[in-house]
Amino acid sequence: MTPAPSDRTTVRRLPERGVYERDVIDAILDEALICHVGFVHDGAPVVIPTIHARSGDTLYLHGSPASRMLRSMRRDDEVCVTVTLVDGIALARAPFHSSMNYRSVVLFGTPRIVDDPEEKREAFRVLTEHVTPGRWDDSRRPNDKEERATLVAAIAITEASAKVRTGPPEDDDEDYELPLWAGVIPLAVTAGEPIPDPRLRKGVSLPEYLVGYARRHLPSDV
Ligand SMILES: Cc1cc2nc3c(=O)[nH]c(=O)nc-3n(C[C@H](O)[C@H](O)[C@H](O)COP(=O)(O)OP(=O)(O)OC[C@H]3O[C@@H](n4cnc5c(N)ncnc54)[C@H](O)[C@@H]3O)c2cc1C
Repeated sequence: MTPAPSDRTTVRRLPERGVYERDVIDAILDEALICHVGFVHDGAPVVIPTIHARSGDTLYLHGSPASRMLRSMRRDDEVCVTVTLVDGIALARAPFHSSMNYRSVVLFGTPRIVDDPEEKREAFRVLTEHVTPGRWDDSRRPNDKEERATLVAAIAITEASAKVRTGPPEDDDEDYELPLWAGVIPLAVTAGEPIPDPRLRKGVSLPEYLVGYARRHLPSDV
């Protein structure tokens, strides 16, 4: 379903770059390793980077119950979550027209602390799988102490926007004849060779699901 943007999720500058389709929003949330959570603490804005994971219409965040970010979520205050994927540097002939190719999401919502043990365990699974698909079934389950030491917050994905820029830079017509290079430097998150833990038990080899680790990628025509 494509929800109409709310007044505050309507992209205003370059509105043609605004996207409200849930499948685009979901794909950006799923590809990004981390998000930034903005909230108000003692009357002042704070933005904190953290891991997120989506399950259907819910975005999960987790952390220490002592963290300011999660403590703030106990207060029923609204937060704003942003996710940014940088796909390239679009170098125009003029710095004014230089830009970035990107896919980003802005999401507003009031977090709900997850108290139900089953949902909490499912959130742990989803968060683990978000970072490394295949890892949950190949790791020790959280014990009671670890579960108690982790707070999980859920945010309904009901008010969100995406903004997407693709393609070459756009210069002023008269500048295209200038003898200056212009174009796009593609950027992507790439994984290096996995480095085994020095304390890895002898004989344990790299699991198949970690070979060629890569973040999912939207088709470039979005
Ligand atoms: C990597 C990157 C670099 C950028 N660099 C610049 C820069 O240097 N200068 C600059 O002015 N802008 C930059 N932007 C764009 C910036 O994010 C805003 O879109 C821009 O400031 C226009 O905001 P506005 O005043 O039109 O909308 P606002 O009034 O700020 O936003 C209205 C609503 O539109 C939606 N929205 C706005 N921006 C985004 C977004 N990026 N993603 C998803 N939803 C969005 C939100 O729901 C927001 O609540 C960059 C974006 C990215 C992802």
